[in-house]
Amino acid sequence: MTMAVFSPIDLHSHSTASDGDLAPADLVAAAAAAGVAALALTDHDSVDGLDAANRAAVRHGVRLVPGVEISVTWDRRTLHVLGLGIDPAAAPLIEGLGELQLRRRVRAEAIAAKVQRLGVERPLEQVETMAAGGQITRSHFARLLVDAGICKDAKRAFKRFLAQGRPAYVSGEWAHLGSAIEWIHNAGGRAVLAHPFKYPMNRSARQRMLGAFRSAGGDGVEVSCGTSEPADIVAAAQEAAAHGLAGSLGSDFHGAHQPWIRLGRIAPLPPDLPSICAALQLVT
Ligand code: AMP
Ligand code: MN
Ligand code: MN
Ligand code: MN
Repeated sequence: MTMAVFSPIDLHSHSTASDGDLAPADLVAAAAAAGVAALALTDHDSVDGLDAANRAAVRHGVRLVPGVEISVTWDRRTLHVLGLGIDPAAAPLIEGLGELQLRRRVRAEAIAAKVQRLGVERPLEQVETMAAGGQITRSHFARLLVDAGICKDAKRAFKRFLAQGRPAYVSGEWAHLGSAIEWIHNAGGRAVLAHPFKYPMNRSARQRMLGAFRSAGGDGVEVSCGTSEPADIVAAAQEAAAHGLAGSLGSDFHGAHQPWIRLGRIAPLPPDLPSICAALQLVT
């Protein structure tokens, strides 16, 4: 059971620029309606939603924190690194994301070939239509498998077909950890390791990951997210502090296709943990 609590600061969310359901302006409107005062838009490997989100944020009186969620390969695993408070026009960031977008495209084609063998017709064209110019993610293929009647819901689509080692999985070679952090810092942002408990790894691997993240210049860890158990928050806060990393908090909102996650529905950070909000000049 996750805690039914609220934070007016939500530093992790998605729009139609990647695998979110809501257009950037609609996401910001939903955040305002939910009582979120500061929202980070953090689409997968894309900053394309930030302009529209910014304009909507001005209209709604929401403080928009420009962000991105960068796909990273570390130790043959995929990690997600959030860039928060970035300048989306910074050249090294734009170039790095451009390369990741190409790799996403190549991977989408390879996943589509596998999904076609499961009996789905024209899968690449279908996910392209779904993504409507945004980044194509595995979430889109999950929806396709549900729409085709092959899986009952997206969770099952991942478990059976799209998760690592499953028949429609294609491994991606993403950014180096050090590169992603450099792009973020060069763009004036802070690097936060997203959802540390979502990676399939044991405690000792997680300690290695946190050590590597800190050594590569990382600034914070997402201690509290939309699916965190209370015990995870306590453990993540201890591990963040032990590695000299600040705490961050974000729902990882995607919209109606993940209804168990809501904007601002996140437990606050333990009060003794330094918060990334200080570096982002957000009032807590
Ligand atoms: P990608 O970056 O294209 O590999 O897609 C990763 C995205 O897929 C994540 O950001 C989640 O939104 C979604 N995802 C990953 N695993 C699951 C899962 N088990 N159930 C539902 N969605 C998932
Ligand atoms: Mn996602
Ligand atoms: Mn993620
Ligand atoms: Mn995310």
